[in-house]
Order: sequence, then structure tokens, then C-alpha cells
Amino acid sequence: MTETAKKKILIVEDDPGINAFLKTALRTDGYETLSTASAGAALQVITSHCPDCVLLDLGLPDMDGSKIIENVRSWTQMPIIVISARSQESDKAAALDMGADDYLTKPFSVIELKARIRTALRHTRTTAESDEVALNGSYSVGELVIDYKKMRVFLRGEDAGLTPNEYRIVALLGKHPGRVLTYKMIMRELWGPSSGYDNKILRVHMANIRRKIEENPNDPKYIMTEVGVGYRMAEKSDFAQA
Ligand code: CA
Repeated sequence: MTETAKKKILIVEDDPGINAFLKTALRTDGYETLSTASAGAALQVITSHCPDCVLLDLGLPDMDGSKIIENVRSWTQMPIIVISARSQESDKAAALDMGADDYLTKPFSVIELKARIRTALRHTRTTAESDEVALNGSYSVGELVIDYKKMRVFLRGEDAGLTPNEYRIVALLGKHPGRVLTYKMIMRELWGPSSGYDNKILRVHMANIRRKIEENPNDPKYIMTEVGVGYRMAEKSDFAQA
């Protein structure tokens, strides 16, 4: 794995067993690892070593891990993946809203973790708008094409007939494939900071979008729901594996 050989991952985890396990798993894949067991040490290592990605446990002895997200986001866009025992949806959404790139709930599989790391490394927040969109003015996945110049979404070459608001939702998700955008992020982006917390309208739009672009709206393959958190646009790799 020459591509990942030089990538440095910082593990912030106070459970020595999990910390050692993550270290071994990531080194096997050719990543360089750094690790700390406290928030204070993590902030020092982040400043001095500039890792390519941070795996962050939220329950740390000296400080809540979310304070790290806040601090780091005030000066850098480095990818942060939260790994936490907290499974509550509100915690997930809060960590993502604070600027975490992704969220894994313990226990998680190593395969899943590695996939999330690859995604985070590919789409750091600074290059959040994927290269494809920047280069071609479109994002395509499976049989779906989002055409940013025509402001239309096509399915198998045919206009899916989205309304302007439906288009804006799909267009936003298509700029961040593989990443969960929380309800709050989407609403803030589309309807402004005062759009409130009622995501009912968003869910109605999504139901209509799915009727137009998904073969089976109850088992979507283009736009996935992270229950209680938000939505995630499929990546090309989701279809390559299928
Ligand atoms: Ca912990």
C-alpha cells in the first residue's frame, strides 16, 4: 500500500486495549500511527506532528473529546473521525456539526474503520468539493448524474424532474460524497442560519427525491439515511463493490 505508506494517523483513546488494537490494525495497512490517551496530549501532538487524520474517542479522562474538535477546527481542516461508545444520535449529530468528518460507534469493524479513514483522507474538508465536480461540473455515481451546469439531475440519461429545492439538496450532498451531512448542516446551507431545527420539510423533500431517483425508495442506494443524524451521498466505490 504505497499510497497510504506515509499517512500519519493520530489515535486519541484512553482505553489501552483499544488503543493498541487500533495501532496494530492501522500499521498492518501501512499507516504510520501516533497515539495519546488524553485530550491535552492530543492537542500537543496535533500541533507538533500535523497528522493526516485523527481518530478521536470522546470520553477522555482530562477533557471531553468534543473540545478537541472545537479547538482543532478553529485553525485546521484536518480530518477527524470520532470513535465513541456513545451511540445516541444527538451526540453523533453534535460531533458532526462541530466539524468532525465522520463518526463510528463502538464496537465497529476494522474494515469499516479503514473504509472511513480512506474516505476521510480522500475528501479532507479543504477539498470537500470533489475534484470531479470541480473539473467536469458534474458528479456521477451508478446511473445517476448531477449536472451542476444545467442544474439538473439525470437518471439513466433522463431528467429526473427534481424541483429547485430537491435539486439543491441533491447537489449539496453530491459535493461531499461519502460524508454524512447533518440535517442542521443541510438546512443551514440551503435555507440560511435561521432555518431552525425542524427537519420535517427536509424529510418530505427527501421522500420526493427518492421517489424520483431510487429504484426502491425504501432501500436507497444513492442517498443513504443516517438515522436521526442526516444523509450521505453514495461514492463510486459503493457501486464498484456491488
Ligand atoms: Ca474513553
